Amino acid sequence: MQNEKLKLAIQKSGRLHDDSMKLLKECGIDITNGVNKLKTEASNFPIEVFFLRDDDIPQYVEDTVADIGFVGENVVFEKNKKVSVVEKLGFGKCRLSIAVKKGDVYAGPEYLQGKKIATSYPVLLQKYLQQKNIQAEIHEISGSVEIAPGIGLADAICDLVSSGSTLFMNGLAESEVILNSQAVLIQNEQLPITRQQLLNKLMFRIQAVKKAKNNKYVLLNAPNHKLTEIIALLPGMKSPTVLPLAEEGWSSVHSVLSENQFWDIIEQLKNAGAQGILVVPIEKMII
Ligand code: ATP
Ligand code: ZN
Repeated sequence: MQNEKLKLAIQKSGRLHDDSMKLLKECGIDITNGVNKLKTEASNFPIEVFFLRDDDIPQYVEDTVADIGFVGENVVFEKNKKVSVVEKLGFGKCRLSIAVKKGDVYAGPEYLQGKKIATSYPVLLQKYLQQKNIQAEIHEISGSVEIAPGIGLADAICDLVSSGSTLFMNGLAESEVILNSQAVLIQNEQLPITRQQLLNKLMFRIQAVKKAKNNKYVLLNAPNHKLTEIIALLPGMKSPTVLPLAEEGWSSVHSVLSENQFWDIIEQLKNAGAQGILVVPIEKMII
């Protein structure tokens, strides 16, 4: 169908909203600001964006109200809906952790035996306790879980943590990570073929953006007698580009380095005689 649109659900407001909008923008998808509305359309890609509470996104995707969604893995696993996780998106990173009162000695999950634990994640917590063979009382609360021990509602909590400062301010210490989470793209399990094709198109862009973020473009000058040694250090996409400099006996070498090997290789390049090393961000990367 010509005017077929892919329906995407993202968080209306909160920790995932801005990064979700930013990712669409980086994919070249122009969304006129419609955040006060329930939904909006892109002007240059066949996509409709729905703004929803993050907790509702898996259900809407299961029910085909939306075809796909951007939502935290923590919510996907807690809600346990019939949706598939397609891709990790690299933002919204956090962990679901058990925290106890600072000063309490936590030697392992046995500590939780017979205790009261407050959480907004009863399903994930129950699963964890079962795995560890622990019987504990789960108190489900929907917000401000971190205050529960302080007001005598619970002995421990199970909540999302990123920096740990909220726990610290409430006199709690993180004792166990039960899940590492980030935002993911989920899809309905039975997308019609036309929507699946649109999703493939979107995925192509998302992967190009993600790959670019994990890589840097590197330019450096090298004396020709050191070229073999320097080129051997560079992985590159294929092989590095080597161009002669105006100065006799020198070349300019261009290559791509991934973020996780970046500092090690730069150091080795320098030791091998590379000079004037420039590192440039990459906007999109298609290989
Ligand atoms: P909504 O109104 O949409 O229900 P919310 O209050 O449930 O919002 P937020 O606090 O905005 O949700 O968190 C949304 C998601 O952001 C979480 O489900 C999680 O995946 C991610 N996240 C990243 N870091 C944190 C953190 N430190 N605390 C809570 N969530 C985090
Ligand atoms: Zn929520």
